[in-house]
Amino acid sequence: MSTSTREIHLASRPDGWPTHDNFRTVEVELADPGPGEVLVRNSFMSVDPYMRGRMNDVKSYVPPFKLDEAMDGGAVGEVVATGDDALQVGDVVLHQAGWREHALLPAGQVRRVDTSTVPASAYLGVLGMPGMTAFVGLTTIAPVREGDTVFISGAAGAVGSVAGQIARQLGAAKVVGSAGSAEKVAWLTDELGFDAAFNYKDGKVAKLLEPHGPIDVYFDNVGGEHLEAAIGHAADFARMALCGAIAGYNDPVPGPRNMFMAVTKRLTLRGFIVSDHREAASEFYRQVPAWVADGSIRYRETVVDGLDQAVDAFLGLHKGENTGKMLVRL
Ligand code: NDP
Repeated sequence: MSTSTREIHLASRPDGWPTHDNFRTVEVELADPGPGEVLVRNSFMSVDPYMRGRMNDVKSYVPPFKLDEAMDGGAVGEVVATGDDALQVGDVVLHQAGWREHALLPAGQVRRVDTSTVPASAYLGVLGMPGMTAFVGLTTIAPVREGDTVFISGAAGAVGSVAGQIARQLGAAKVVGSAGSAEKVAWLTDELGFDAAFNYKDGKVAKLLEPHGPIDVYFDNVGGEHLEAAIGHAADFARMALCGAIAGYNDPVPGPRNMFMAVTKRLTLRGFIVSDHREAASEFYRQVPAWVADGSIRYRETVVDGLDQAVDAFLGLHKGENTGKMLVRL
């Protein structure tokens, strides 16, 4: 007996800001799982900024999405039929076949997750790829040392909100964040324990950051004007983890005009991609779930309901409509 379900295809490649015309919802029939396969009813799918890059037909660290095929990305769900003895009906699993209500997958491509202390959705955020990105950035790429002043941009997002709290756990003396609304700024200082935060829309980032410098570590989610401001207010020998540059994903923005300061201040700027750092996973899973369990790390999710809202959720991410991790409940 096959399963009727729906998935979202990339219908055309966006030029600048994506629109609904770039996507198509398609009904498909999935066969029952064969030997070694599982059928998963997805409960949550992730929308992430990196997916914007995959909509372009350019060579990068991940291949572009193919036109007229389902897009993919992180998702969690429940096994509803199985052709593999290692997985049972009812198991909750994490996998990469998002943007669809059901996924038929080789059993080797799903990972069972423990939902006894956190909901499955946490494995798409704080205990998943975004959390791991924050952890790698501040332990491997621009390691935080006791007493550092750490600045995080995009601080109220999935990666940034975890990064600020990890910086504190690693011994930062001062954690400063920037975000795009007064509500987000209040969340950072009142609930997440940031020492200071500002709304970058209130003025020039360099001016807003000035009272909080000099910066020893900068975790960059935004690029452009934020990166220029961080370089301008960096301490000598500061380290910068270049994680993302969302300010320019849909409309290119100019790079920092003060790069020569990287020489005069002897800065280290290092870009990274989390998937290159699988060796950090065991340390991540040793430390971060414990910090979540004891309340040292808090997290929030912005949940949008239904596959029909998935494109809006993705677009909303680029307009700051999320606090914490943006998710689609299916
Ligand atoms: P977020 O949850 O942070 O969502 C994106 C946020 O970006 C929005 O909420 C918005 O918040 C902010 N934003 C959008 N446009 C701008 C702008 N022009 N200037 C400043 N802020 C803006 O997403 P993630 O946490 O998933 O990702 C954060 C960054 O990390 C992205 O750049 C992403 O590409 C990168 N990343 C990199 C990885 C790697 O391996 N290197 C892995 C995962 C993510 P606001 O309201 O504050 O504007």
